This record gives sequence, C-alpha cells and structure tokens, in this order.
Amino acid sequence: MNTIYNAELDQKIKQFFKGAVKVSEPLAAYTSLKIGGRAELFFSPVDVEDISALLKILGSTDLRIDVIGAGTNLLIDDADLPAAVIKLDNPSFKNISLDDDRVYAGAGAALGSLIEFSKQNGLTGCEFLVGIPGTVGGALVMNAGVRNVWDVEDKPYLSMSDIIEQVQVMDQDGNIRIYSHDQLKFEYRSSNLKGCIVLGGWFSLRSEQPGEIQQTIDAFWRLRKKTQAVTMPNAGCVFKNPDGSHFSAGELIEDCSLKGMVFGNVQVSPVHANYIVNKGGAGFGEMKELIMKVQQAVWQKFKIELEPEIEIWEGSYR
Ligand SMILES: Cc1cc2nc3c(=O)[nH]c(=O)nc-3n(C[C@H](O)[C@H](O)[C@H](O)COP(=O)(O)OP(=O)(O)OC[C@H]3O[C@@H](n4cnc5c(N)ncnc54)[C@H](O)[C@@H]3O)c2cc1C
Repeated sequence: MNTIYNAELDQKIKQFFKGAVKVSEPLAAYTSLKIGGRAELFFSPVDVEDISALLKILGSTDLRIDVIGAGTNLLIDDADLPAAVIKLDNPSFKNISLDDDRVYAGAGAALGSLIEFSKQNGLTGCEFLVGIPGTVGGALVMNAGVRNVWDVEDKPYLSMSDIIEQVQVMDQDGNIRIYSHDQLKFEYRSSNLKGCIVLGGWFSLRSEQPGEIQQTIDAFWRLRKKTQAVTMPNAGCVFKNPDGSHFSAGELIEDCSLKGMVFGNVQVSPVHANYIVNKGGAGFGEMKELIMKVQQAVWQKFKIELEPEIEIWEGSYR
C-alpha cells in the first residue's frame, strides 16, 4: 500500500487522540459478508471531542474518512484501502435514554437495543426494525426499513424517516449540528446524512401497552422469517426493488432461474434470491462479478436495471 501513515501523523495521533488506533486493519471481520481488505488506519474514538480531534488531524492528509457501523450493508474491496475508518463502538456512542417524550439513541447503539428500550418504556413505533442487524447510525444513513406488516393503504413501507425527529451529526470541520426532520432528505435506502458523522438521533414514539408492543414485534418477526433463514454470511438485500415494477428484485432474479446459482465461493441464496451469500473464503471480485451477472440477466429478460442496495467500497477510491 502507498501509505500516508508516517512518523509525523503517528505523533499527532498520539498527542491529540485518546481512543484506540489500529494500523493496516483488516476490515472483513467488521462486516456481515466477511469480505474486505485492510484500512490504512482504524479508529475507535472514546467520545465526541475525540472525533473532532481526529478530524482535525486527518484533515491535513489525503485519507478518505469513512464510518463503519455494524457493517451489515457493506461490500468492501479486498485490496488495501487508503482510508481512515472510524467505528463508534465505545459505550459513549451506544447510550439510549428518555428525553422528555422522545427517545435519544446514540449512533453506535444496535437497532435491537432501541426496540428493547422503547418496549421497556411503553413506547411504540420502532418495532418494524426488528431483525435488522445494523446500528442506529447506519440505519439513519441508509433509511433502513421494511414492508409494513399492517394493511395500511397509504403506508405500505415503514422506514427510519417515519420515526426520526432530529439527528445529531458532526460535520467535516468537527462542528456538532442538529438537523430537524424537515432538513433531512430521506429516500428509498438513502439520505442526505451520507458524508456526515452521525452521532445519534431523537425518535418520536407513542405510548402503548407493553403486551401490544410485543405483539407488533412478533408480527414483524413473522414477516422476516423467510429472509432470516439465510445462515451464511450476507449483507441483506443486494438490490433495491425497481421503481415502477410490480415485481420485487428477488422475484425478477428468481424468474431468471438464478436462485441458488453458485459462482466460485459466492452464491445467490437458495432461500432468498435477493441475497448473495459468502460460502466461505469469498473475495470481492467474485462477489462483484456475480452481482453483474445477475444485473445482466435481469436486464436481458426484463429490460430492468437492478440498482445495488448494498454500499460498495472500492480500493481505488482515493
Ligand atoms: C440479514 C440482514 C437483513 C437485513 N434486513 C434489512 C431490512 O429489512 N431493511 C433494511 O433497510 N436493511 C436491511 N439490512 C441491511 C442493513 O442491516 C441496514 O442497511 C442497516 O441499517 C445498516 O446499518 P449498519 O450499522 O450495519 O451500517 P453499515 O453497513 O456499517 O454502513 C452503512 C452505511 O452507513 C454509514 N454509516 C454507518 N454508521 C454511520 C455513522 N454513525 N455516521 C455516518 N455514517 C455511518 C456507512 O459509512 C455506510 O455508508 C439487512 C442486512 C442483513 C445482513
């Protein structure tokens, strides 16, 4: 790797950064797909001031700065990455608390913890997130969501945008900003939070009996059962459901007879056609090639372009 890390940078990090630093850190273990090369630098800040100090240090380098959550929506190049990757895994970023009638959740908190906390406090609204293995930060950036389990005509899907009221972010200059809902732009699996460092968010939930909340959680779990049966490493749905089509991406892939298709160490899941699994030791190249093969097949048969839902970090992105 053509490294940027040198004695001068090392000195600055030691002087101003309090958290843990890893040099040339393999990223595969931080992702649910278990694919990924080495990041030049990997940081676990201890608190918000630590992130701010880090941004000032890294501002004078050419390193790209990326935040990784639970790594459940990522396909990372297995080449070396000229990147500084930040993981908000310190407990100070996982705080979940009541703030008047709202719930505050730190970006590093697991979605499962947000659901559990809300249930304990008799608050309903976030149960649809059950089974999504990400963090609050990753879910806000991706506007994670699911099909609505209740038959509500004007609300067939539920996503983070439905429950978030305000988001706390750190901009690239290290300033903390609070964005209200109308300053945020949420679309299908994307948001204008990409590029910021999300620190946490305030969720607007409603009072409900714990028994009712549990029933809602159970209902959303039943809906997920099919996909959660995928046991091999994966990153959830690989493709977005195409706009204007009556068919989901999974149905289109299945109609091309690709369900279960094996390519080297990767496979279109035999359980859910919109999942691609790592059968063991898979590389970035074969994963990307299978994604392209699926796109080509769907295009040839239906003239529909499947757009990836997963985010791809490629090695040459400096
Ligand atoms: C089995 C399985 C099922 C899934 N089911 C669903 C589903 O039903 N619905 C759905 O929407 N998704 C689903 N996903 C995908 C994924 O879990 C979600 O997109 C999740 O919200 C990603 O969160 P993460 O913490 O893993 O983010 P990561 O994958 O780590 O990162 C995703 C993006 O968010 C950014 N990011 C993460 N944290 C921060 C932060 N604090 N500040 C700034 N940027 C940040 C990253 O840089 C990256 O751009 C599934 C995945 C799996 C493996």
